[in-house]
Amino acid sequence: MASIRRTLSPYQDRSHQNGGSSSPFSLNSPSHKHSRFDLGVPRFIHRKVGPYRTWMRSVYSCMLFFMIGFLLGLAPFGEFEDVRSRDFSFPPTLDVKEDIVVDKVELTVENTKDYFARKQLIVITPTYNRPLQAFYLNRLGQVLRLVPPPLVWIVVEMNVASTETADILRGMGIMYRHLVCANNLTNIKDRGVHQRNRALEHIEHHKLDGLVYFADDDNVYSLQLFESIREISRFGTWPVAMLAQSKNKATLEGPVCNGSQVIGWHTNEKSKRLRRFHVDMSGYAFNSTILWDPKRWEKPTSGLIRQLDTIKEGFQETTFIQQLVEDESQMEPTPLGCSKIMNWHLHLEALELGYPKGWLLQKNLDAE
Ligand code: UDP
Ligand code: MN
Repeated sequence: MASIRRTLSPYQDRSHQNGGSSSPFSLNSPSHKHSRFDLGVPRFIHRKVGPYRTWMRSVYSCMLFFMIGFLLGLAPFGEFEDVRSRDFSFPPTLDVKEDIVVDKVELTVENTKDYFARKQLIVITPTYNRPLQAFYLNRLGQVLRLVPPPLVWIVVEMNVASTETADILRGMGIMYRHLVCANNLTNIKDRGVHQRNRALEHIEHHKLDGLVYFADDDNVYSLQLFESIREISRFGTWPVAMLAQSKNKATLEGPVCNGSQVIGWHTNEKSKRLRRFHVDMSGYAFNSTILWDPKRWEKPTSGLIRQLDTIKEGFQETTFIQQLVEDESQMEPTPLGCSKIMNWHLHLEALELGYPKGWLLQKNLDAE
C-alpha cells in the first residue's frame, strides 16, 4: 500500500531506488488518481461543475473567512493595553509627589547662595629660612586649610623660592601663590616690609578681589578670626594679645570699641605713644579693591598703597593704615564691640638655633 512519510527523499530519488514506473508517485501509477496531491480544491478544477455551484462555493468560502477574521478580531491578544484607558494629555501625569520635588529645589538654591555669599580671604605671609620655619608654616597652613574657601595664601620669600617652602605649600591642600621678592637689599630694617609690598603689587596687578590680611608665620590664629574678617566691608580692626618671653603677662594692642565705633586704643609702650593708630600688623584687614579701584572708596592719599621701609620700628602699621582710612570713623570693630581676642602675637623666637641644612638636625637634637 502506498504511504507517504515525510522523512523520505523526493519522489524522483525514490523512483531510482524503487525502480522506474512502479513508483506509487509515478504519473503512470494506478494509484496516482488518489494520491495526496490530487485532493481538495485542485480536484474541483478537473471536475466539470456548473457555474451556480462554483458561485455558491465562493460565497461559502467568503463567509468562512469572514467568520474566522471576525472571531480573531474579538479575541484578546496577549497583554496589549487598551489605548482608550491611557492618558495622553500634556504634560503627562508623573508618579512623583509634588511637595518632595519642591523641597529638593529649595535645598540646592540655599547651598549655592551660601557658597557665593562668602568673601575671598587673601592672606599674606612673609617668611624666611630659620630653624622653626617649617613648624611655623605648617602650623599656619593647617589653620588656613580649616577656613572655608575661598581663601588664597600668598607666601613671599626674599630672593629665591626655597624648595622646602614650596614642598610645604604643595602638600597643604589649599589655594596658594608662592612669590619671590627680588629686591637686592642689603641694609634693611624689616625685610618683611618688602615681601608684603610684593604681595600687594601682585593683588593690584591681578585685581584680586577679597579681604587682605597680613598673617606673619610665627603668630597664633583662631578660626573665628577668619570668620570675622569676612564681615568687613572697608577696613576692620580688633585687639591682639602680645606675648613676650620678657613679660610675664599678655598685653593688648588694638582698638577699644563701643558697638560699631572705635573709641580708643590699647597701648603699653611709651615709645610708641606718638603713633596715630595703635594697631598690630596682625590686628587689621581691609578690602583689596582699595588697592586697585580707588574710585570706589574715598582714599585719604593718592598713589600706590605700600608699607614704608624708611619708618622707625613700631610705626610701620600706623603709617600703612593712614593710607587706607582717614580716621576711626572709617574703621569697623571686628566683630562688633571688638571684645574678643582672636589671635596672639608671639615673640618667642629661638634665636640661638643655627639653621640646619635641608631641614634636618644632623646633631644636637636638644635645640636650646
Ligand atoms: N620676615 C621675613 N624676613 C625677615 C624677617 C622677617 O620674611 O628677614 C617675616 C617673618 O617670617 C614673619 C614676619 O616677617 O612672618 C615678621 O617677622 P618677625 O616675626 O621677626 O617680626 P616681629 O614678630 O618681631 O614683629
Ligand atoms: Mn613675629
